[in-house]
Amino acid sequence: MSMQEIHDAIAADADGDTLAGLELPDTMRAAVVRKSEVGMFDGLDTRDKDPRESLHVDEVPIPPLGPNEVLIAPMASAINFNTVWTSIFEPVSTFGFLERFAREGDLGARHDLPYHIVGSDAAGVVLRTGPGVTRWRPGDRVTVHCNYVDMEGPEGHDDSMLDSSQRIWGFETNFGALAEVSMVKANQLMPMPTHLTWEEAGSLGLVMATSYRMLVGQNEARMKQGDIVLVWGATGGLGGFATQFVLNGGGIPVCVVSSPEKVALLHDLGVEHVIDRRAEGYAFWTDDGEPDFDEYRRFGSRIRELVGADPDIVFEHPGRATFGASVFVARKGGTIVTCASTTGYEHRYDNRYLWMNLKNILGSHFANYNEAWEANRLVARGMIHPILSATHPLHEVGEAAHQVHHNLHTGKVGILVGAAEEGLGVRDHDLRAAHRDDIDHWKTLA
Ligand code: NAP
Repeated sequence: MSMQEIHDAIAADADGDTLAGLELPDTMRAAVVRKSEVGMFDGLDTRDKDPRESLHVDEVPIPPLGPNEVLIAPMASAINFNTVWTSIFEPVSTFGFLERFAREGDLGARHDLPYHIVGSDAAGVVLRTGPGVTRWRPGDRVTVHCNYVDMEGPEGHDDSMLDSSQRIWGFETNFGALAEVSMVKANQLMPMPTHLTWEEAGSLGLVMATSYRMLVGQNEARMKQGDIVLVWGATGGLGGFATQFVLNGGGIPVCVVSSPEKVALLHDLGVEHVIDRRAEGYAFWTDDGEPDFDEYRRFGSRIRELVGADPDIVFEHPGRATFGASVFVARKGGTIVTCASTTGYEHRYDNRYLWMNLKNILGSHFANYNEAWEANRLVARGMIHPILSATHPLHEVGEAAHQVHHNLHTGKVGILVGAAEEGLGVRDHDLRAAHRDDIDHWKTLA
């Protein structure tokens, strides 16, 4: 049986028993980086490291299935920044993660291969379930969150992100989403929202659940109604969902972006307060590489001018470029919640402004199953919407990663894997019609 025949069966809505009866081929197409090429960009600046050279679509074996694991056929996936990091081998080569995983035993050893299949988001169909899987069966339509965790030890049982075995699927594990068959743990699966296309549903998981945990869930900033939330990169992957969660939860977003087009889009979406950081020319670092407090003050004054107060929460991820300003402008007792350092991970901030003003810095990373599930539920009920700016076929994965690497995109960039074309996969057309305006509305962000 070929992968094409399996995709045809899925497109024809074959039932679970039929899918379970289909023999899987030995190999599949998958987007990979190759271990033999880890040094290919040595000596180049980050900007000049080109994912179009390092990401390949190769024919590779379908992985063997272990206990509590599931093989899915991703119909669509998306580019996350972690795929950019993997493809430029920064800040470290992800082959190191796979080698470390292999030292844990036989199941981990399967991941240590001369290639790394990337991708941490998917919408697709269950093909096979391993021993011990009881909640899912072949034919189920699923979205996948990327928290890959065993929960064998005690640490993760309050919050699985704290488990010592916690990894990000398709980044710290092999067999990620950008492949015709992908291997996940059963506890990564969630029901696919029935009113979305494959590519819409496949674009959500990673950034949406990360934003949910940072702002809404019980573990981090715990935004409440009326909170003023400063959102960096508000039309990007994380920021687009953060903006939606603030609006949906009765907060007041102050969005920062870098072009008049993005400002106009956010206004159209009902965001009142938007700052164009480029037009307003904020330069938080002097030419000598020192923080510029006058610029911090100018930025803080602008926020006060817009909303009459300092932010209760700052949604941080640009990192070095903005972190000092984020700490400075947060209100007394306010919270800076951070999950990334896109512009550099050695941050500088003046600690006097933190301790004297009783501010909090919270480190956050992806989300636990419950947080991902709750975020997925909000989508399924039409309260939060996908933000998909472009969709590429699998063979253009390098170009798609290049777009994200150079901030040429808005929202998410999707990848069709098993789906033959865009627009497929919707099950509940009435529900889609009921939310069409909102879905189209957020698509204008793209
Ligand atoms: P993205 O779609 O590229 O969005 C990032 C946004 O940041 C851009 O749209 C840009 O918006 C803004 N930005 C870039 N440089 C900036 C600067 N110098 N100053 C201010 N804003 C700047 O990326 P993403 O998917 O949202 O991911 C963002 C970061 O979070 C990445 O580093 C990613 O690896 C990380 N991440 C971490 C987790 C986690 O679990 N820890 C999860 C998801 C993502 P404007 O140009 O419009 O201002």
